[in-house]
Amino acid sequence: MRRGRLIVVSGPSGAGKSTLIRQALSEVPELAYSVSATTRKPREGEVDGRDYLFISREEFERWIEEGRFLEWAEYSGNLYGTPEEKVEEFLDEGRSVILEIELQGARKVREKRPDAVMVFVRAPSLEETRKRLEGRATEDTEAMELRMATALGEVAAMDEFDREVVNGDRERAREDMIRTMREIIGGK
Ligand code: 5GP
Repeated sequence: MRRGRLIVVSGPSGAGKSTLIRQALSEVPELAYSVSATTRKPREGEVDGRDYLFISREEFERWIEEGRFLEWAEYSGNLYGTPEEKVEEFLDEGRSVILEIELQGARKVREKRPDAVMVFVRAPSLEETRKRLEGRATEDTEAMELRMATALGEVAAMDEFDREVVNGDRERAREDMIRTMREIIGGK
């Protein structure tokens, strides 16, 4: 069986990556999602094992030592990482796997797996990014400013990616994301 493709979806916080990924997953059955581990506390509505594996910092550090992560990074004071074993399982089954990760992690994956396809999702403008972050309202002001500052740096990283999806008009972005995923799976 042909192995699946490893697909990294990255871009500034607040760009709408999660929604677009959810939509692509429900439309494209060949796609699988890699559930990350994190030390961040669950937000309301998030489910352990579906959205993230919520683990303690101690456990996360143990997983690092055991070499269980394909990549990991610290972001806004929390640790996030991609458990490698599950990703490999999906790829072996011929499914393509989406990693939704921030930029430092995306760079690590690109180094380790040069065949990974890098997809950048961004809002049409920084103003729009800020609005979306504010609208989320799960963060206090300080956390939000930190995320905004990080997002500014992340927009500059666009050139390092193979594909770009601009999340302006929601319906168009949805279609663009789905088309991009199908093209990647089809080897285009
Ligand atoms: P949030 O706390 O908003 O869920 O995620 C914060 C950032 O961490 C987002 O940019 C998200 O894409 C990223 N992230 C989620 N999982 C991982 C992971 O496994 N590795 C890395 N490097 N970043 C991740």
